[in-house]
Amino acid sequence: MCGIVGYIGNKQAYPIIINGLKRLEYRGYDSAGIALFDGKKIQLSKTKGKVVDLEARVAEEIETKGSVGIGHTRWATHGIPNDVNSHPHCSNSGDLVLIHNGIIENYASLKTELINRGYTFKSDTDTEVLVNLIEEIKKQEDVKLGKAVQIALNQVVGAYAIALFDIKKPNELVVAKLGSPLAIGIGEDEFFVASDASPFIEFTKDAIYLEDEEMAIIRLGREVRVRKIKNDKLVNANIQKLKLNLEQIEKGGYDHFMLKEIYEQPTVIKDTYRGRLLANKGIIKLGGLDDNISRFTNADRIIIIACGTSWHAGLVAEYIFEEWTRIPVEVEYASEFRYRNPIITEKDIVIAISQSGETADTLAAIKLAKQRGAFVYGICNVVGSTISRETHSGSYTHAGPEIGVASTKAFTTQITVLTMMALEIGRVKGAIAQSDYMLHLRELELIPGHVEAALKSNEKIEEIAAVFKNAKNFLYLGRGVNFPVALEGALKLKEISYIHAEGYPAAEMKHGPIALIDDQMPVVVVAINCNHYGKVVSNIEEIKARSGKIIAVVTEGDTEVAALADYVMEVPDTPETLTPLLTTIPLQLLSYHIAVMLDKNVDQPRNLAKSVTVE
Ligand code: GLU
Repeated sequence: MCGIVGYIGNKQAYPIIINGLKRLEYRGYDSAGIALFDGKKIQLSKTKGKVVDLEARVAEEIETKGSVGIGHTRWATHGIPNDVNSHPHCSNSGDLVLIHNGIIENYASLKTELINRGYTFKSDTDTEVLVNLIEEIKKQEDVKLGKAVQIALNQVVGAYAIALFDIKKPNELVVAKLGSPLAIGIGEDEFFVASDASPFIEFTKDAIYLEDEEMAIIRLGREVRVRKIKNDKLVNANIQKLKLNLEQIEKGGYDHFMLKEIYEQPTVIKDTYRGRLLANKGIIKLGGLDDNISRFTNADRIIIIACGTSWHAGLVAEYIFEEWTRIPVEVEYASEFRYRNPIITEKDIVIAISQSGETADTLAAIKLAKQRGAFVYGICNVVGSTISRETHSGSYTHAGPEIGVASTKAFTTQITVLTMMALEIGRVKGAIAQSDYMLHLRELELIPGHVEAALKSNEKIEEIAAVFKNAKNFLYLGRGVNFPVALEGALKLKEISYIHAEGYPAAEMKHGPIALIDDQMPVVVVAINCNHYGKVVSNIEEIKARSGKIIAVVTEGDTEVAALADYVMEVPDTPETLTPLLTTIPLQLLSYHIAVMLDKNVDQPRNLAKSVTVE
């Protein structure tokens, strides 16, 4: 995920682009860059860091003249955040300049082909491959820029919002979209391009939102031409009148970043397995894992270290790794692990999980594990973060920046990576039946659609929140792979609503927490279709017998729990091992709505910080 801005018109492009990038920084902020056409040549400046760092760099190295330009604030997916990997990227001739938001899945094979044709690459990005592919097609087919872009995009697999221009024809911007957002602002004799409308809201209220698989040629002095990328058909694009204010636009129309991030989950789960899960071919490709697969298949033990929500993702992984790989797994709080005297051998693998990749306790635990000879694998969201550098190998989740302090999409994308890892290790080790492996690959591909379906219960969940918002305590129960989901549900509620909540394995209730149950105690039970269904039903009966109030997460179409529970929240059916990716969703929404109703600061809850870089 990243922010892109473009301008073509009669004003100076620089202030519009730089201010626009600042407004888009919530979409990515590890590096930034700008390219302006000053009438003769390209003025290009890029840097690692934030947009203010770019401003400083620009002041040192380029002229800011020109009324055509593009700018980018990056959230790296391919190649660490550094000056060279920052966008815009130029083609080998230097004529084409491009910015990109998304992932080109087949960049590696396209890159090899281009290298064979004599192209050279400065960066490690997938984006630089695309700009050179467009150049090559333009040359080979002898076509205009728009046509070359169209042919190139039909060869590309992945997601993108792009904007580019040719310095030899600087009166034209070409843009295209698939999977990432792109808005075109239409002013008088000027056009704007951006990931959302915030960069141009004060200049025009007229905007076209491109649909997936559409591209547009924006020519100064003419109208915008929108076409289908696949078949070149002209599209009658709808010009909308913008009504949202700046803050609403940045939050994608949602009231809070947390809600926006909850709703992003179908997309970011897909981004996380994009190019890595090829269900129809029966393949999982995870670079960091493939290079070290024999270490995993020969490991005596896997130790997962993490904190907070990431620790809950680790607990989910314990169930699925042991199920599919038959390797013993232990899950530890990083803060405990680092101060114990843990027994670690060279045949142990340590998996460290952290959204930010900067969590201080997790980093210290990694150092200790490395000193004692373990192989350490990192799972982080932030490319180039300290944990990604300090570990021997690893995989990124591609969740994009998470702004809400209470983690949502980071959790489900961590589980997505861990699920792919467990399936792949199990397959290579021969510990999972091929039919089971294939089934889960196919089912994992269906998860984004299922998450979307689960999100449809939002209004109903809001009504449930209204009923329980004044409760002083909550109990969350789950069994098996949904026990960590109960812990995560309770943590979400605590974090943002400040209501006391506890998560327990459902069967453990009778060993203590059952004493808490009375008619004032809401109990959230994950009671989906699974091996323990009958047992969970019995637990619900026990709570009912003590007048507790049941809010149950059930599988669509469930009747048995529905008849017992006071309220149900439905999720689609999926194999049990994948259910945490769905059962988490209603619990996120429940805590969100309660916190909003209690008028709490949802995105920045008191006493918390997004990235815990202190012990
Ligand atoms: N895949 C591109 C990169 O890593 C674009 C990432 C983004 O959307 O910022 O540079």
